[in-house]
Amino acid sequence: MRSAKYLKFVAFAVFAVMVLVAAVPFWLNRSVNVLLAQARAELLAQQRLDAILASVRDAETAQRGFVITGNDTFLEPYERTRRMLPSALHDAKEKARTDAERTTVWRISRLVDLKLAELEETILLRRRAGFEATERVVSSLRGKQYMDELRQLVAAEDARGKARRDALRADLLARSGRSFTVSVAATACNILALGVLLLVVMRMLRERRAIAAQLETQAGQLAEAVALTSRRNRELKLVAELLRAVEAVPAVVDAGPVIARFMPKLLPGVAGTLFLLRDDDDNMLDRQAQWGRPSDQPWAIDIDACWGLRHGARYKTAGYGDPACAHYREPSDDAAARLCIPLVTHDELVGMVHLEGLTAGSMQEEQERLAVTVAEQLALALGNARLRESLRRQSVLDPLTGLFNRRHFDAALKRELARARRKNVPVSLVLVDIDHFKDVNDGFGHAVGDAVLRTIAQQLRLGIREGDIACRYGGEEMVLLLPECTAADAGARAEAIRVALAAITPNAEGEGPERITASFGVAAYPVHAQDAEALFWAADKALYRAKQHGRNRVVTGV
Ligand code: GH3
Ligand code: MG
Ligand code: MG
Repeated sequence: MRSAKYLKFVAFAVFAVMVLVAAVPFWLNRSVNVLLAQARAELLAQQRLDAILASVRDAETAQRGFVITGNDTFLEPYERTRRMLPSALHDAKEKARTDAERTTVWRISRLVDLKLAELEETILLRRRAGFEATERVVSSLRGKQYMDELRQLVAAEDARGKARRDALRADLLARSGRSFTVSVAATACNILALGVLLLVVMRMLRERRAIAAQLETQAGQLAEAVALTSRRNRELKLVAELLRAVEAVPAVVDAGPVIARFMPKLLPGVAGTLFLLRDDDDNMLDRQAQWGRPSDQPWAIDIDACWGLRHGARYKTAGYGDPACAHYREPSDDAAARLCIPLVTHDELVGMVHLEGLTAGSMQEEQERLAVTVAEQLALALGNARLRESLRRQSVLDPLTGLFNRRHFDAALKRELARARRKNVPVSLVLVDIDHFKDVNDGFGHAVGDAVLRTIAQQLRLGIREGDIACRYGGEEMVLLLPECTAADAGARAEAIRVALAAITPNAEGEGPERITASFGVAAYPVHAQDAEALFWAADKALYRAKQHGRNRVVTGV
């Protein structure tokens, strides 16, 4: 980290400055100590010379007392001086620091020796020849001369010493002044260095705090992004699952419950109603599914009942101010928004999703975004389902009668036979051929013939159970496939249809025959045949018999 390196460098620099600053007073002290030692030595040297001079003076006084009185007791200081002076002189010689000093000490020593010799001589003379003889020696003034010289020498040396001490004191004063200045400067230096260090540390701490705050913000943003991504992933997965489920529904109307199951997972807390466009009316939508706790919604709405459907774009109401759609039967809640999203694919309306209870604030935008995405995908899936449904219908249904076509019949017969074999249950076939149909065409025209065909197909549909299959096999021949139905039951059912058919007037609104009949041939697996071909052939044979025996009857296989 750059700032950590920078801090280390500054700390090292500050340390170096402080070490240097600490060394300066130490060095100054050392030189002051040297000066003090010099001054002390100077004083001692002077004291030594003064002591020698004083001793010699004491010895002279003692000699004088003895000469006058002849009493030996006066000689005691003289004796002490004699004992002590050699070592004091020796000491002074030893401790002399300069040649000049050494010369002075030497000269003092010689004068002391001469003076002591003169004193000795006087004392001996006093003992031997008495006071008068001594007076002569004294009055010769030799001793006085020695003393004067000695005093002058010591005084000169004292003066020199004093001058040296004054110089040293002046030097000391100057140095202590300098030392004070340097100490003040050193303290200022230290304070400055520490101040710099403090500033750097504070800046670094500030930087660290800023980085930490930045990291915290980034971590927060990252966590938000992760949460958003995982939410989007979950939504995408759910949308994909929803679309897969819608793809799998056999008919568009079956998509309603699937959508109602998924929507609360995608938009928790949001209630909704799904309307799908009616097959045969481009202006009406039927309520197909609801989820959550929706408000009361009509079972069917006109396109004009919804602003979203009218404008072909999503329509939001969020409060009492916005104009409400006619399909709102309850007043809107002020806080929660309502949203009508038309389901449009390839410019064709498929349906409409009405959502209620969208939360306020930023979540609402998020919910809206998701709702619109889901609606777009749903519209596509429902459009595809509708297309698939119509294609499937076209491929398996006969367009004239709405019955299944021959292709579907062939496949269904095979499938049902295989199932019957597996489950060991019967399957019956009823072949139906209209009697004298040619006459209808010839008498009333082909269109009436077609209308009659449709009537008969409707009668067949009415006469069979859920799960039975009615097909137009070709021309005016139709066939009923009755799974899990014995020949007897099939015969009975055929008979009922025959009776019902004979009782009505086909194409009642227009012109046409008064009445129409049909012949029925019944055959069943496993009693009449084992496979599809044989079963059909058996039923056909029975039909042929029915025609032969006068038509308008049911014949069960032989
Ligand atoms: P029957 O079966 O009783 O022996 O007499 P039929 O007159 O019905 O005789 P057939 O079964 O041979 O006649 C079939 C007629 O059905 C021929 C044809 O004109 C008519 N037909 C076949 N398909 C259609 C159709 O799609 N529309 C109309 N209008 N007529 C059809
Ligand atoms: Mg026929
Ligand atoms: Mg016929």
